[in-house]
Amino acid sequence: MDDVEIIDPRFASYVMGNAPLEKLATGFRWVEGPVWFGDAGCLLFSDIPNNRIMRWIDGVGTSVYREPSNFSNGHTRDHQGRLISCEHGTRRVTRTEHDGTVTILADSYQGKRFSSPNDVVVKSDGSIWFTDPHYGIMTDYEGYRAEQEQPCHVYRLDPESNKLAVVIDDFDCPNGLCFSPDETRLYVAETSKMFDPEANRRIRVFDVGADGRSVSGGADFYKVDVGCADGFRCDLDGNVWTSAGDGVHCVSPDGTLLGKIKVPETVSNVCFGGRAKARLFMTGTTSLYSIFLNRNGVQQP
Ligand code: MG
Repeated sequence: MDDVEIIDPRFASYVMGNAPLEKLATGFRWVEGPVWFGDAGCLLFSDIPNNRIMRWIDGVGTSVYREPSNFSNGHTRDHQGRLISCEHGTRRVTRTEHDGTVTILADSYQGKRFSSPNDVVVKSDGSIWFTDPHYGIMTDYEGYRAEQEQPCHVYRLDPESNKLAVVIDDFDCPNGLCFSPDETRLYVAETSKMFDPEANRRIRVFDVGADGRSVSGGADFYKVDVGCADGFRCDLDGNVWTSAGDGVHCVSPDGTLLGKIKVPETVSNVCFGGRAKARLFMTGTTSLYSIFLNRNGVQQP
C-alpha cells in the first residue's frame, strides 16, 4: 500500500491493505478542526481563510455549515454533544447550543483579550481545555491582524464555577492538544511563533495531577521530522495520531514512531469518526481525507 508506511512491525495490524486513503472533498484554502457527529452522520471542519465551517456527509458531499464562522479553527464536542469552537476572528471560545444559538464561553483572561484560540478538548469532568497561540492575529489571512495582549498559554475552563485558569504558561505557541484515554496525560503541540525560522515541531507530554485540573512535567514526547505537529487525537491503545508535513504519524505512548499514513498535502488536524470511530479523518491544506483503520479512536461524546 503506497498510502501507508510501516516503521514498527506493530503498525502492520493497525492498517488494512484493502482500505485506501480517500480524498473526500477539495477546493478549500486551509482546513483544520475536524469533529465527528455520529448522531447526525456528519463531519464538521473549518475552512479558515474562507471564514466558514464545512459539513461533510458520507454519500452526500460537502456543504457550508456556517458562514461567516468568525474564522473558527479547532472544534470538539462536550458531553451533551454540543459543538465547542475556537474562533480566531472574535478571539474567543464558543458553544453552539442545541437550538443553534451561540454562547460565548471565554474571550479574555484577567481583562486582556485572548490572541486566537486554536484547539480545544473536553475532559470527562466537563472542563474545557484550549490553547491560545497568536496565529490568528498576526495576519489578515486567518482572522484580523491585531496587537497581542496576552502571552500564549494553555487554559482550563471549569464547568461549575466558569473560572478560567492558566494551566501551562511556558510555551512559545501551544497548538493542538489531547488527553490520553485514561486522562493521566495531556499532550500539547508546540509550534513556533509566526515567522520564526526556528521551527518547533514537537509534542510535549504533561502528567495530569490527582486533582484532575493541574499538570506537571512537559518533557518532549515526539518530534515530527517533516512539517509540524499541529493537531492530534489518541486511539484506545493510547497511541497518538498526529498531523505532519507528510501525512499522519502514529506514535506509541512511549514516543516510538510506529508508522505513517502518507497524504499528498500537509495535514493540519485529525479526528476519529464513522461507525465504531475506526475511520481517521484528516484535514490536509485544501482537502479532506480519510482512511479506515483497524483501531478505534477516543473522542467524545
Ligand atoms: Mg492548530
